[in-house]
Amino acid sequence: MQVTVEEILGKLISVSSIADTPNEEIVARIAAMAAPFARVRRLPDAVGRKTALLLSIGPDDRPGIVLSAHTDVVAVEGQPWTSDPFALTARGERLFGRGTSDMKGFVACVLGALPAFAAAAGATPVHVALSYDEEIGCKGAADLVAAVAALPARPLLCIVGEPTGMKVKRAHKGKGAWRLTALGRTGHSALPHQAANAVTALARLAARLADLADALKDGPQDAAFDPPYATLHLGSLHGGGALNVVADRAVLEFELRSIPGGDAAGVFRHIEALVAQARAGLKAQAEEADILLEELCAYPALATPADAPAAAAVARLCGDNDAPGTLAFGTEAGLYAQAGIPTLVCGPGDIARAHKADEWIGRDELAACTGMLARLAEAIRRPAPEWIVR
Ligand SMILES: [Zn+2]
Repeated sequence: MQVTVEEILGKLISVSSIADTPNEEIVARIAAMAAPFARVRRLPDAVGRKTALLLSIGPDDRPGIVLSAHTDVVAVEGQPWTSDPFALTARGERLFGRGTSDMKGFVACVLGALPAFAAAAGATPVHVALSYDEEIGCKGAADLVAAVAALPARPLLCIVGEPTGMKVKRAHKGKGAWRLTALGRTGHSALPHQAANAVTALARLAARLADLADALKDGPQDAAFDPPYATLHLGSLHGGGALNVVADRAVLEFELRSIPGGDAAGVFRHIEALVAQARAGLKAQAEEADILLEELCAYPALATPADAPAAAAVARLCGDNDAPGTLAFGTEAGLYAQAGIPTLVCGPGDIARAHKADEWIGRDELAACTGMLARLAEAIRRPAPEWIVR
């Protein structure tokens, strides 16, 4: 007897799979469910702690479809859940659990559709690409995207199933996040001339970055986004321990969200120059002093044209008659687009429910996604170029 999407979702939710923890259990569970229908490729990271999965159905040497998702979820500590976040709990037509919307609901629908894909994928292959550590900056997608891009035939379409209420989304901003650590020289607060104050150095640098953030408002504009310009945000600034001691350490974290086609690399070079200036100033006070710049996460913007054939194909599959929209949040879609694969974001659920207590997805939302995948299973009976590139 075939298992239902809801049963599959229950199995996925019961494995916690928090980002940045080993993910062997969720990988093993998904691989076992997929094995009867798909070729299962495991893509372990360099240290064997995390594994991405690439499930393929149909002929590899023909251009196919990629269904992309991440299997990690954010932690639940400190959140007031009213039911066990790792036990799928139905209340009325809503199913509660960590990852229901973001984005195990989509994964469950895709796994539920594998038998239909296996029965139909003679002309167009389907590749299911499942990453890890998306929630900590798309860290687990690079090797997976490279493996997809290296398939004998490059896919003609990638659908990233992040929660969009099954609306087709074609673009989002890119993001980079960094940590600055200033290392100065400590000393008595009465003798600041013999020390190098890390707090002062980063406070000055923070002010320069804030000026740059203001300048970006007058930079390149794209009315498809709110706000329509790149943003530079200072997230946290910590340093010092006591008033009568010169701080020898301070830490500043900031992020840059860039519009597609904006000069993100140029803005970053500007930031590097400001850091170099601050570093030189601190070193002038104490030669051993330094300011370290460390990347925390980065993903590119997504900018699939509104009139792309791939966008129209996804709109037909999910019955969305509106013009494809843009997203306020980032996804792995920009990575697939960067690899030359036309990519859209479309999945069940609502991002507004994600990362919070009592995250849920509606049974109707799962049904809508299952309907889209059933139409996809019909479409793949024909070669992809016939129904995507028109
Ligand atoms: Zn997500």
